[in-house]
Amino acid sequence: MSQAKHPAGSEAVRITGGCRCGGVRYEAEGEPWNLTICHCLDCRGATGAPMVGWLTVRREACRLTGRPTWFRSSARAERAVCPACFTHLAYRADDLPDEIDLTLASLDAPERFPPRDHVWVSRRLSWVTLPDGLPAYPRARDEA
Ligand SMILES: [Zn+2]
Ligand SMILES: [Zn+2]
Repeated sequence: MSQAKHPAGSEAVRITGGCRCGGVRYEAEGEPWNLTICHCLDCRGATGAPMVGWLTVRREACRLTGRPTWFRSSARAERAVCPACFTHLAYRADDLPDEIDLTLASLDAPERFPPRDHVWVSRRLSWVTLPDGLPAYPRARDEA
């Protein structure tokens, strides 16, 4: 299990974001958790990027508008992209039905939510240098 609990009493936090063309937008209420940079092969293969930044919010508190395209990126999860400009927006795992992950770089205010750790660094590309000071987990955080 990943961290299913979210901080209580933080409903004032509002997160908004969306794709590059503006066709798909999202908004979420509540303090996000699992702010991370993921180096896994699934994220890399699905995006073509060397790593992907994420945060997690409650699925019931997150609303996507504009008909994103969901596709199955692994046996256990789906990802959402904009059907017009293909910005990578969201991730939902089958075994975590209360959670949805949003890409940090698609937030309207990504500077407000810097990552707190790195995960799957066992898959890190050799030319990606990790900044000092953040925890770095070889695999998923809960497998550390
Ligand atoms: Zn778009
Ligand atoms: Zn990943």
